[in-house]
Amino acid sequence: MAVLWLDEISAGDLEKVGGKGASLGELTGAGLPVPPGFVVTAGTYRSFIEEAEIDDELFEVVDVDVDDSSALSDAADRAQELILETPFPDELREEILESYSEVGDGEAFVAVRSSATAEDLPDASFAGQQDTYLNVTEEALLDRVRECWASLFTQRAIYYRQEQGFDHSVVNIAVVVQQMVDAEKSGVMFTSHPSTGDPTMIIEAAWGLGEAVVSGAVSPDNYIISREDRDIDVTVAEKKVMHEKDEETGQTVEREVPEAKRTERVLSDDEIEQLVDLGERVEDHYDNPQDVEWAIVGDEVFMLQSRPITTISESNGEPTATDSAIDVSEGVTDGSGTAAASTTDTSSVSTGSVLVDGLGSSPGTVSGAARIVKKLDDLAKVDEGDVIVTEMTMPDMVPAMKRAVGIITDEGGMTSHAAIVSRELGVPAIVGTTNATTVLEDGQVVTLDGDKGAVLEGKTVEDDEETEPVEEVRPQSPVKPMTATEVKVNVSIPEAAERAAATGADGVGLLRTEHMILSLNQTPEKFIEEHSVDAYIKELIQGIRTVADEFYPRPVRVRTLDAPTDEFRQLEGGEDEPEEHNPMLGYRGIRRSLDRPDVFAHELEAFRRLYEMGYDNVEIMLPLVNDAEDIYRAKELMKDAGIDPDKRKWGAMIETPAAALSVEGMAEAGIDFASFGTNDLTQYTLAVDRNNENVADRFDELHPAILRLIGTVIETCREHDVDTSICGQAGSKPEMVQFLVDEGVSSISANIDAVRDVQHEVKRTEQKLLLDSVR
Ligand code: PEP
Ligand code: MG
Repeated sequence: MAVLWLDEISAGDLEKVGGKGASLGELTGAGLPVPPGFVVTAGTYRSFIEEAEIDDELFEVVDVDVDDSSALSDAADRAQELILETPFPDELREEILESYSEVGDGEAFVAVRSSATAEDLPDASFAGQQDTYLNVTEEALLDRVRECWASLFTQRAIYYRQEQGFDHSVVNIAVVVQQMVDAEKSGVMFTSHPSTGDPTMIIEAAWGLGEAVVSGAVSPDNYIISREDRDIDVTVAEKKVMHEKDEETGQTVEREVPEAKRTERVLSDDEIEQLVDLGERVEDHYDNPQDVEWAIVGDEVFMLQSRPITTISESNGEPTATDSAIDVSEGVTDGSGTAAASTTDTSSVSTGSVLVDGLGSSPGTVSGAARIVKKLDDLAKVDEGDVIVTEMTMPDMVPAMKRAVGIITDEGGMTSHAAIVSRELGVPAIVGTTNATTVLEDGQVVTLDGDKGAVLEGKTVEDDEETEPVEEVRPQSPVKPMTATEVKVNVSIPEAAERAAATGADGVGLLRTEHMILSLNQTPEKFIEEHSVDAYIKELIQGIRTVADEFYPRPVRVRTLDAPTDEFRQLEGGEDEPEEHNPMLGYRGIRRSLDRPDVFAHELEAFRRLYEMGYDNVEIMLPLVNDAEDIYRAKELMKDAGIDPDKRKWGAMIETPAAALSVEGMAEAGIDFASFGTNDLTQYTLAVDRNNENVADRFDELHPAILRLIGTVIETCREHDVDTSICGQAGSKPEMVQFLVDEGVSSISANIDAVRDVQHEVKRTEQKLLLDSVR
C-alpha cells in the first residue's frame, strides 16, 4: 500500500506517516471532525528511490563539503533533479490518483504537505517540513508530491543534516494529501488557560482561512469562556484582511474584509458552544490541554490540527510568580506580561551600600566576584559566575562575557557594544559608570542591579537563583499576541540567534554584520590578505546563515557593514585605518561601501550565494544613507554582483535627518522598506554623541524633533507603499511603540529581552486605536 487513509492511522504510525500525518490520523480515529485525506507513506518514498535505482547516486551526491558553497549548490541541484525527473511507476501513479479521486467528489482542492519522519531532528523544518502546497488539483498532484520529496534535498536541508551529523540515507519523508476546507471563519483555541491550566478556554477567530490568524496578519476576535459556567467574555477586533481561495487561479490570496464585516463578531454563541464541546473532547482524548486549529464552513466545524500546550506551569495550576502578572484577557497572547527577564526579584537587593552607579543596560540582578579587565590577557581570569569590570567591552571579549554573570563598564551608553551584546546574551549589565574599574577591587564580591544601574557591596543573590537565558525569553504560551504591526527582534551576534528565535518574534529587524567581522579580529582587508576573498565571504555566509536558519522562513533583515574607524583600528590591520576627529561622523556605513566597491562586492557576493542556496528569507539593509543618490549607487552595485533588486527585498536605514527628509526619492529609487535607526538618528539630530556618558542625559529618542522626522517618513512611505520599521533601541520603549503604532508603522524590531513586552504594548495600542475609531 502506497498510501494510508487518515482513519487507518494512529499515533503509533509515526515512522510511516511522519508527525503531521500521525497527529491527523489520531484525531480522525477519535471521531473528531478532521477533513478527509490520506498519507503517501515514507515507505513509498523509499521504494520510489530504490526501485528507480537512484538511491545510491542520491546519497553519494549529497555527501559534500558543505562549506564549499558551489559544491553544496551543485549537490542540491543534482539530488532534486534526480527525484523530480524520475517518472512515477504506473502502479504508484494510479494508486495515488485513485485515492485522490475518493477525496471530495474527485474534483477536490487538496492541501499537500510534507511530513518528515526523522523524529530526532531537533528542527523538523530542516527536513523539508516547510513544504506545503494549498489548493492543489489532480493535474498538479503528482508533481507536488515529488516536490515534497525533493524538499529533503534543499541546500539548507543538506547543510543542516551534515552539520548535525545525520546520515542522509536514514531520513524519510511522508506526504499528507488532505481535502482543503474553504473556511468562512477560522482560528485557534486553547482548551485550558495556556499559562495556568485553569478551566478557561480561549478562542481567537477571524474571517476566511486560518493562515491569517496563525501568521498574525489579522487581529482576531477574542473569546474567553469559563468551562465551569460557560460564561463568555467577548472582545471584537477590527479584522481588516482575510485569506481566501481565489476562484480563478485556485491560489490563496489576501483580501480586504468588506467594511460592514470588519467589526462584526465572528462567532455566534452556538458556534462557541460547538467549539467548546470539541475542545473538551480533544482534551479528554489526549488527557492534557490542547492548542487546536479549527475552521468553520456553513454549519460544519473542522479540526485542522491539535498540539499539546507545553507551557502550563507544573505547579498544577497554582499561579507562579510569572503567571500572577497575567491579565486573563491577554492569555492568548504570549502569556507572560512581565517586564524583561530578571535573574531574581530585585526586592531582595536591600542590603549593601551603592559602590558605583551607571546606566542599567541589561536587566537582572546578580552577585559575583568582580574581575577587573584592563587588557585582553586579563580575560583568562574571568571564571563562570564572575562579574566583568572593564572600560569598554570589545568583540573578542564575547566568550568571556558568556561565562560572566554580569558586566560593568566605565564607558558607553545604552547603544554601546557592552550594552547591546550583554542584552543579547541575557547577562545583566551596567554601562557608563565612569569609575568602576578604579573604585571596585579585583575579587571583591558585588551585586549588580541591571534594572536600576547600581552596583552594591556584597552578595545578595544566591547562585541557584539564576535562570537559563534562552528559557527566560521563551513565551509562556505557544501563540504570540496577534498584532497587525509585526514585532521583530534585533540580533548582533550570531551566538544570540537561538535566544532571539525563542522569543517568537516575527523575524529579525536588524542583523548587524559588523560584530561578525569585528570578532575575526582583523579588518576585512587584513583578513582577505591573510586568508582569501573566499574565506572572507564564507565567514559572512556562516554568520548570516546561523541566524537565517534559526528563523527560516521568517524574514531576516541583514545590514551591510557599518563599523566606525575607531572600532576597526583596534583590530589587526587597523593601523591602516584613517585617523578621524570624529569617527561617528566619518567613514562608515554606506559611505565606506560606496567608496570601496571592491570590498563591498564581497559582502554582496555573500548575499548572492545565500540567495542561491535558498535563503529567500534574507533581506538587505543599507546603513547610514543620506539620500536617493546613495540608494541608486548601491542598487547598481547590487546588480553588478548578480542580485536582482526587483526580486529581493531590500531597503535603507533612516539614521540621519537628511535621510528622513529624502525618503521620497529613496522610495522612487525602489526601496522596499525604511527602518529607523534611532540610535544614530538621535545622535545626529540632537548633536549628542551616543557613546559619550557625559551627555547621556541629553540622549532622548523621544525628542519632539525626532518624532516629527519619524512621523513624516511613515506618512511618505505609506503613500509610496514602502514598509516602515524601527531597529534602534528606542523600539523597545513603550512610549515609542505607542507613537509608532499610532502613526502606522509596519513593524517594530526590539531587543531580545523586550520582545514580549513590545508585543503586548503593540496589541494594547492597536486595540485602543480600534476602540477610539468606533466610539
Ligand atoms: C541605529 O543607529 O539606531 C542602529 C540600529 O544602528 P547601530 O546602533 O548599529 O548604529
Ligand atoms: Mg546606526
